[in-house]
Amino acid sequence: ERRAALGASSGPGATSDGHKVPLLANIGGPGDLAAALEAGAEGVGLFRTEFLFLDDSAAAPPKEKQIETYRQVLTAFPESRVVVRVLDAGADKPLDFLTPADEPNPALGVRGLRSLLEHPHVLAAQLEALAEAARGLPVYLEVMAPMVADRQDARAFADACRRAGLRAKFGAMVEIPSAALRARSILQEVEFLSLGTNDLAQYTFAADRQVGALARLQDPWQPALLDLVALAAEAAKAEGKSCGVCGEAAADPLLACVLTGLGVTSLSMGAASIAYVRATLAKHTLAQCERAAAAARAADSAQDARRAAQAVLSGE
Ligand code: PEP
Ligand code: MG
Repeated sequence: ERRAALGASSGPGATSDGHKVPLLANIGGPGDLAAALEAGAEGVGLFRTEFLFLDDSAAAPPKEKQIETYRQVLTAFPESRVVVRVLDAGADKPLDFLTPADEPNPALGVRGLRSLLEHPHVLAAQLEALAEAARGLPVYLEVMAPMVADRQDARAFADACRRAGLRAKFGAMVEIPSAALRARSILQEVEFLSLGTNDLAQYTFAADRQVGALARLQDPWQPALLDLVALAAEAAKAEGKSCGVCGEAAADPLLACVLTGLGVTSLSMGAASIAYVRATLAKHTLAQCERAAAAARAADSAQDARRAAQAVLSGE
């Protein structure tokens, strides 16, 4: 009965007129694989690899341990896309051996890709472990860097991937407004984009994601955030490349329709949200999603954006 209530309760994500939007899972480690498979995820859209590094914050985990863990994830999704994000340390995820202790503003400091470029051996070891784990497996491995600010960052990451002998697509997360504004230039270096809307909201509104009092500014329905999503998605379309969303925004079924209307090509979320997003998407055409997206962008607040999108999607 519950399945019936959800409508399209399995199968690939798509609008009612058949525009495909792969629904992928965000995972934090092999422990999340069972739920992702159960939910019918079409692959992994964000594997946060930080957990591997949290056991011992004094040193990187041995390569063998990394290889074993990556293989577990890759073998769970044969013939599917698996997007692995390299270590995103710093700010809300500090690691003793990487994160400077004395930064005045850790969220604006040496974090994500910045810290990996300062410790190239840590990045190289992770990329080599991924290359080794994927060897001989029938997967579509994609590897992306967090906190890419510009083309120079994207090139440095792509160079590191090539040096590690990685046979995979290399991508950049769009989490900093500069990356959305200059997405086309970043796409000269990498093959795909993935929007991290949690950090993108934080940096767009100068609102620390860990400060609850600023929740209004962290709301992914903020029209300014939708504008940046549209910029990145349009750039990817112009370059013939993909642009997914892997931040919390993708887990909101109504917003998932709006993101689709903005031109986002895949949605990655916690496994628990997949069924509801799949069912909601299946109720609307791509044209309706596009109209909802336009209505949301025309609003002046997150609240009004949501209301406007809801009106478009329920009125038709
Ligand atoms: C994001 O910032 O939206 C994201 C997906 O990465 P994380 O939440 O791990 O920072
Ligand atoms: Mg992030």
